[in-house]
Amino acid sequence: MEIDILAKLNSLPLPQMASTLNITPLAEWLPAQSVPLIIAGPCSAETEEQVMETAFGLASIPQVKVFRAGIWKPRTRPGAFEGVGTKGLKWLQKVREQTGLLVTVEVAHPKHVQEALDHGIDILWIGARTVVNPFSVQEIGEAIGNREIPVMIKNPLNPDLKTWLGAIERLNRMGQTKLIAVHRGFSFFNRSPYRNAPMWEIPIELKRLYPELPILVDPSHICGNRELLHSTMQKALDLEMNGLMVEAHCNPSRALTDKNQQVTPAQLQEFVDKLIIRQESDNSGFSSKLEELRSEIDKLDEELIDILARRMNVIEEIGLYKKLNKITILQLKRWSQLTQDRIENGIRLGLSREFILKLLEDVHEEGIQRQIDVMNREDS
Ligand code: PEP
Ligand code: MN
Repeated sequence: MEIDILAKLNSLPLPQMASTLNITPLAEWLPAQSVPLIIAGPCSAETEEQVMETAFGLASIPQVKVFRAGIWKPRTRPGAFEGVGTKGLKWLQKVREQTGLLVTVEVAHPKHVQEALDHGIDILWIGARTVVNPFSVQEIGEAIGNREIPVMIKNPLNPDLKTWLGAIERLNRMGQTKLIAVHRGFSFFNRSPYRNAPMWEIPIELKRLYPELPILVDPSHICGNRELLHSTMQKALDLEMNGLMVEAHCNPSRALTDKNQQVTPAQLQEFVDKLIIRQESDNSGFSSKLEELRSEIDKLDEELIDILARRMNVIEEIGLYKKLNKITILQLKRWSQLTQDRIENGIRLGLSREFILKLLEDVHEEGIQRQIDVMNREDS
């Protein structure tokens, strides 16, 4: 399954820089004096007391600049707590007035947008279930109209960069320039310690395509538990993401939604204090060491690509031989022996079984395609 998803990702026709977004830099509308920028708050607003207690706890963490709370909750099955609805907007207004934090809510359709704007909400966010539907994104954009309001766009549930990009581009074309992407991980069928697989290659690719677009990471929905939260926050920073959106609750064990992943404001403070803020580069010899290592990587990559190209040439020769002798392309016995052998070899050299397998699958897939091309070629 993992291999299918990776193969799908690899086939994304997005190799070029598509830098056509018109983005107002984060620093122009959301000054973050302390790094990293953090948006925090409960998964759901439950009561006024819970909202205020959580907000006051969070307001004392210097990095927290924005308070989040869901008031309309997208629940998979009906009957679960679906949020307090409009009355929660008044609580958020109170948070704004009493703590000075900016406030943000999830909006899923035009009525939510209207009510949020009527209540002076500072930032809207579009959730993972809404972003998959271009009609919904269009309607949300139309409901905002020509007012300009920051919008955070979570990644869709499925690992589909194009859908995520599409929502961002759609809102941008509709005039919204204060946009932020939020990486919250992807639904996954394999067993994994994460609730939603991070698949970091997707936000990294988004960053490569649109370096001007800020990306926050939501480690709470990626992890689904508190144990992995800190390391995921650290990873987000090490990958040069622009900040974090973390779920925090004054009493997580009594939370009505997502209780396993929420932390208290005090726990969040501890996690933030433990974060290591690494520099992109500095002047203390680190840069030159880094340059040296990077040029080593460049050389190795060159060799790697050269070897892959040579391997494909040999594969084509094999394809030709099979064609002349009327042998089928896929030789399962040989493939399974080869895989076994390469995995053992890789493990001896400190590489994981999963990595070798993934790599071989991709190489094999390309090899089969080359052989099909040879078989179908008229002249050979
Ligand atoms: C949330 O942030 O509470 C939420 C519902 O997130 P997502 O849309 O990422 O599932
Ligand atoms: Mn949640």
